[in-house]
Amino acid sequence: MLSSKLAIVTGGGSGIGQEICKKLASSGAQLIVADLKKSSAESTAKLLPGSGHTAFQIDVSKYDDVERLKEFIQSSGHHPGVLVNCAGITKDSTLLKMSREQWDDVINVNLNSIFMMSQMIARESVKSQTSLSIVNVSSIVGKIGNFGQTNYSATKAGVIGFTKSAARELATKNVRVNAILPGFIRTPMTEAMPPKVLEAMISMVPQRRLGEPEEIANAVLFLASDMSSYVTGATIEVTGGLGM
Ligand code: NAP
Repeated sequence: MLSSKLAIVTGGGSGIGQEICKKLASSGAQLIVADLKKSSAESTAKLLPGSGHTAFQIDVSKYDDVERLKEFIQSSGHHPGVLVNCAGITKDSTLLKMSREQWDDVINVNLNSIFMMSQMIARESVKSQTSLSIVNVSSIVGKIGNFGQTNYSATKAGVIGFTKSAARELATKNVRVNAILPGFIRTPMTEAMPPKVLEAMISMVPQRRLGEPEEIANAVLFLASDMSSYVTGATIEVTGGLGM
């Protein structure tokens, strides 16, 4: 489905991002696994079927790092066909207690990165007249909010607005932009939660279970591939029914 397309996945070193890398590589894509820790990116790259994958260290919230990725892509002579913006962090606190640093850090990693990465890759795509699918990993809490996550939910709602506006601007330029809204997914983040909190979360989900990272990766594959050629500006909720 993605035969020899170059796909960049940020946050590819762990959790959902790693599963997305595996899914896209299994479908024929050549991956740039981009992550904060080089070692995490390398661990993922080693798991991938096929050859020619790259592990790239990047802090997606830093403009200079995004420029370094641009130079790497340009020197490779390949044009990206898929960008998955998956890197994300949480720094939870109630609004009354949240520090300015917690707010700024989450905005920088979860939202400013989406602007910098998408602009950089979309410019490359328009210049080279290569088709591009951008998939942004938002969250259901960007739609329904969550206790202790004013910073995180604001970024994930921002990602939805960004996705729709960028999709409108780029629709005639062979660039599609869509977003996935995962619900509660089984990752190191959710596995570290106290069992009582986890049970309470699961009780809110109509399907009464956590989602698996592969269930997010399946939706990303659909949006990344030509199977979704008439889909742009869409948000797909992969939540077991939470937040419908
Ligand atoms: P995860 O396991 O923590 O993976 C996130 C990855 O992003 C990590 O490898 C992390 O690197 C990397 N990262 C963090 N900051 C970065 C930066 N500045 N530059 C580059 N890479 C950075 O989290 P996950 O649960 O798979 O979440 C992936 C995405 O799904 C996030 O956008 C998250 O908001 C979203 N999401 C998750 C859930 C869920 O239930 N898990 C639900 C809804 C949405 P380090 O580990 O080295 O920090």
